[in-house]
Amino acid sequence: MIRIPHWIDGAERPEGVADLPVFDPARGVETARVPSGDRTTVAHAVASAVAAFPVWRETSLAHRSAILFRFRQLLADRAEKLAQAVVRENGKVLEDARGEVRRGLDVVEFACGVPHLLRGGFTENVSSGIDTYSLRQPLGVVAGITPFNFPVMVPLWMVPLAVACGNAFVLKPSEKDPSPALLLARWFSEAGLPPGVLNVIHGAHLASTALLEHPDVRAVSFVGSSPVARFVYETATRHGKRVQALAGAKNHMVVMPDADLDTAAGAAVSAAYGSAGERCMAISVVVAVAEVAEPLVRRIADRAGRIVVGNGMDPKSQMGPLVTAEHRDRVAAYVGRGAAEGAAIVLDGRRSARPNGDQGFFLGPCLLDRVTPAMAVYRDEIFGPVLSVVRVGTFEEARDLINANPFANGVAVFTGSGAVARRFQHEIEVGMVGINLPIPVPVAYYSFGGWKASLFGDTHVYGEDGVRFYTRTKVVTARWGTEERGRGTDLGFPVAD
Ligand code: NAD
Repeated sequence: MIRIPHWIDGAERPEGVADLPVFDPARGVETARVPSGDRTTVAHAVASAVAAFPVWRETSLAHRSAILFRFRQLLADRAEKLAQAVVRENGKVLEDARGEVRRGLDVVEFACGVPHLLRGGFTENVSSGIDTYSLRQPLGVVAGITPFNFPVMVPLWMVPLAVACGNAFVLKPSEKDPSPALLLARWFSEAGLPPGVLNVIHGAHLASTALLEHPDVRAVSFVGSSPVARFVYETATRHGKRVQALAGAKNHMVVMPDADLDTAAGAAVSAAYGSAGERCMAISVVVAVAEVAEPLVRRIADRAGRIVVGNGMDPKSQMGPLVTAEHRDRVAAYVGRGAAEGAAIVLDGRRSARPNGDQGFFLGPCLLDRVTPAMAVYRDEIFGPVLSVVRVGTFEEARDLINANPFANGVAVFTGSGAVARRFQHEIEVGMVGINLPIPVPVAYYSFGGWKASLFGDTHVYGEDGVRFYTRTKVVTARWGTEERGRGTDLGFPVAD
């Protein structure tokens, strides 16, 4: 049995009891154990980060950037190894894992430009002989707590930018698939990142809470489900920290009568069942407007019924298992619940053949039609391969349905009309909008984040928002002229002259 260690102060630390099981979801077997870090582990990791920070913040931007370039190259050269590590513990198919590594790499490349990103402002002569300028300085020790569904990409949304900005970082990855984070820490170290600048500690609630309460942690980036995001936000802000907590989702895709139905059906199937629906940007509700419902549902069912479900390492597989047996059972239960509440089951993935007998955590694609907003399948984030279709009569009904939903991560509209698309992007109350594409994950030089119950905090991750989150602004007002000397006492409030 493999025992996955923490990474503290630039080395593996096998401390603590390794009591949390890690599974290969496709085979349904426990392959490793990971320790549940506690206050002692967190104290150790934070102390290492505190010690590393003063030297790291003084390290020149040229030097920090050079380390990031080296890390970027290691990541690019070893992408396949990392993708396979994702498949082994998360279960998603290899091609999908490769995509996740690529999107993480994009953020590393963005962070390589840190000298440009940290440029401040300068204004000459704000008053006679006086100049004002702004600096961006690091916060100190910052923490990241990440979810199981992107064990590479989400840590890479945080770590590269945070350390590029001069912070020291403590990462707590998901206990369900912790190995990829350890590879990232090793490779950062190999690229020249000094010990203590990046620490990885394992565990679940205890480890997270110790980080949220630790007085030396200045800021927390979190990505995960909404109830935990709320807890993280409330606990960490109560302890005086800056927090960005990206949360759960219920992403809608509106199909207008003038859309190309084959394109829309293909997009819905890809976005609903890719990664077995375990994506925060997965489409979980198709909103079929007016007469498109019948032909659209037929096309979706036809495509979804042909998805090849299997072990993520098998190149023929298009959809892998869910992450754990408990999660698979929870998702499957929603299908029965939907039917009991009046939805029509068009595709029942519970009946699909199980690729590995009952061992793997598989569930086939499920499609529910005639879903209404009152049903649990509509209200709750299911986070599995279950797509609901809600039928509405008009654009306005579709818009109002989405705007009334508490989640607001991503949304999409499929239409042949520029005017409709423009109205949609203007009136929809959601953080990330796709027009004729279903998964609008912004590129690294924009920022990623939802609105409403999909985000607790103010800033999104990566892009300029990421730089803002990991730095504080200092504004200097300076006079170097000699004309003020000997002017004497002046108790008046300073104003420009
Ligand atoms: P989760 O909320 O269960 O866990 C996320 C992290 O929090 C993990 O590291 C976990 O160990 C820790 N954690 C769990 N319970 C905790 C508690 N009570 N106190 C403190 N820490 C705790 O989420 P998950 O199941 O790993 O991931 C799936 C969820 O993440 C979905 O809801 C999905 O929508 C969301 N997600 C959101 C985004 C986004 O950008 N908005 C991106 C990816 C995933």
